[in-house]
Amino acid sequence: MAKALFLDRDGIINIDHGYVHKIENFEFVDGIFELCRLAMTKGYDIFVITNQAGIARGLYAVSDFEKLTSWMLAQFEKQYINIREVFYCPHHPTKGVNEFKMSCQCRKPAPGMILQAQEKYNLDLGASIFIGDKPSDMQAAEAAGINNRILVASRYLEEEGESAGKKPDQISQSKVKKVSNVLGALEIIKAL
Ligand SMILES: [Mg+2]
Ligand SMILES: [Zn+2]
Repeated sequence: MAKALFLDRDGIINIDHGYVHKIENFEFVDGIFELCRLAMTKGYDIFVITNQAGIARGLYAVSDFEKLTSWMLAQFEKQYINIREVFYCPHHPTKGVNEFKMSCQCRKPAPGMILQAQEKYNLDLGASIFIGDKPSDMQAAEAAGINNRILVASRYLEEEGESAGKKPDQISQSKVKKVSNVLGALEIIKAL
């Protein structure tokens, strides 16, 4: 069974300006390419797991997301990094202007997207890693049985609100490793 590195997108791969959906607003986070290359040399398959409620909210279309994703994957390829697949949730349970307004099993903190990846690629989730910047990322990872959970500091850890999921002191901290940025996450992966 393969082991995976799961990456949240906004705040981990790109700077989270809020509902980023255009190439000109997509700024790669320092150290993300280095981190991915290291993970590949250690035998991890890389996946992106991202909530894209901007689609449910009607801020951008699936086609906008797909166009940006293709561009993002091309940038990774130029850096000799293979992202196996990008899983995204276009839904929102309450905020929405279209058919994407619904409760679903894929929106983090639910583990649906991770479990989908597991099934499709036969992944060993116990040996896998999740890197995110919200408590809801850590909840999804924990619910999926991922042991290595890395929480990168972000403004969401201070804020309350449904998008952030539970407050940090409410989530199981036993195996969450907190770091101040992606370079900190890289150091943890080095030591794995
Ligand atoms: Mg994020
Ligand atoms: Zn969903």
